[in-house]
Amino acid sequence: MTQTLTPVKPAKLIINGAPVDAASGETYTTMNPATEEPICAVAKAGAEDAERAVVAARAAFDSGPWPRMKPAERQRILWRLGDLILEHGDELGRLETLDNGKPIFESRQIDVPMAANCFHYFAGWTTKLAGETLPSSPSFLTYTLREPLGVVGAIIPWNFPMNMVGWKAAPALAAGNTVILKPAELTPLTAIRIGELALEAGLPPGVLNILAGPGAIVGEALVRHPRVDKISFTGSTDVGKHLMRSAADTVKKLTLELGGKSPNIVFADADLEAAARGASTGIFYGKGEVCAAGSRLLVERSVHDEFVAKLAERAKKLVPADPLDPKTRLGALASKGQMEKVLGYVQTGVREGARLVAGGERQPVNGRGWFVQATVLDGVENKMRVAQEEIFGPVLAVIPFDGVEDAVAKANDILYGLAAGIWTRDVKKSHAVARRLQAGTVWVNAYNFYDAAIPFGGYKASGFGRDLGPDCLRDYTQVKSVWVNLEYAWGSWETVPQGAPTQ
Ligand code: NAP
Ligand code: MG
Repeated sequence: MTQTLTPVKPAKLIINGAPVDAASGETYTTMNPATEEPICAVAKAGAEDAERAVVAARAAFDSGPWPRMKPAERQRILWRLGDLILEHGDELGRLETLDNGKPIFESRQIDVPMAANCFHYFAGWTTKLAGETLPSSPSFLTYTLREPLGVVGAIIPWNFPMNMVGWKAAPALAAGNTVILKPAELTPLTAIRIGELALEAGLPPGVLNILAGPGAIVGEALVRHPRVDKISFTGSTDVGKHLMRSAADTVKKLTLELGGKSPNIVFADADLEAAARGASTGIFYGKGEVCAAGSRLLVERSVHDEFVAKLAERAKKLVPADPLDPKTRLGALASKGQMEKVLGYVQTGVREGARLVAGGERQPVNGRGWFVQATVLDGVENKMRVAQEEIFGPVLAVIPFDGVEDAVAKANDILYGLAAGIWTRDVKKSHAVARRLQAGTVWVNAYNFYDAAIPFGGYKASGFGRDLGPDCLRDYTQVKSVWVNLEYAWGSWETVPQGAPTQ
């Protein structure tokens, strides 16, 4: 197969502006989920490396040039990094597909431009982040400064390894922070490569450090470290809850982007062809290993049978294939464990009484790989486990509903609140339902659209804080209020002019 043609060089950690081995000298092997073969050795960071990275990031923030340089200079470096990601698009796309198993079409045409777009978009914000002059009293000049937080630890999952570097590092760096990024142990390669490109772009030493290694050791060390100021985490709800507890001891700032079980709602008045395409890409894009996947399909009962037939037909045509083939639209799941979890959920669904109308099986490609068929479970009730729990794979649960009230009630009857979709030709209904859905993102007659300019994040157990857009910059900065006395002599409170603010 084409996968093994060009060998991938061993990957190192990036600490203080240089690729380095782990302090322990240990390495591990990252695997190709499509072939079950090793890709390359990766330096395996441990607690000592976390400490080295904190020292470097701390020095880069406390006394290095990054937070002190002219915003326009930071802008140029971040913009250059965006350009370098595009220039290395073929290499990065291939690395992502080898490491994660997603189709090269997605890595190359969606993830590379998205990662670059983050650096370009947030480069522009470096010169626009500003405080305000606020009126308090004629005796004072009162204004705010918007300042960086310091050292940001970014902990990211394996489903969008390259995108997430852009989502987390670009805004944190634009705001003047320094960053220690921990990719998932399963998929470290593109983050490490972008770390190298960042040095080429002119990022000073220690400003962006990359530590591949186990979450329970390296991630935990960052979360517990008193000299890390903030953790920006994307991952599972269980680990997110654990991080909240660990972060409490150092009163660390925290942003959590967690799991989802997002409703994709098809009303009878929708363009059903478009909705079937949307329902299909809503769940099968990224093999369903997408936090915002439209994994609960709510279909209005009057069109339910017709719609499910369309969908099942689509799912059967979407056959798993070699992820490096540009025509492939369904790749391999990221790990054997994930594949087993997903297949286990299919069985659970059938045991709970759901009806399998497409897929449901492992389907190796060329005799190997962690591939699962595009799967549709019909006749699902919202209380079932397959309707309530995040499966994180190409498995769609179809739930019928009757009218707007029922659709909204079922959509919101879940712990999560990451995203939702609405398919209808009725403009009034689309806006009214969008307001009533408890979700951080609502797509109308579309699904799975993302842009660096548009905030993304969760309601309810899907987390708090935002990635992307102007809103995320609030999560990477803090506000300082400055009071300048213009008028009265400092002394006892009696000298304070009437009307001036006191405690
Ligand atoms: P995960 O197991 O929670 O892992 C996420 C990251 O946290 C990985 O880098 C992991 O490291 C690290 N980690 C694990 N235990 C840790 C600990 N004790 N302390 C610090 N860090 C620790 O999630 P995943 O299975 O990789 O990713 C899938 C999940 O991510 C899904 O639930 C999905 O919904 C969610 N997700 C959410 C969004 C969003 O924006 N809301 C986007 C994408 C994915 P190792 O894996 O290297 O051990
Ligand atoms: Mg891998």
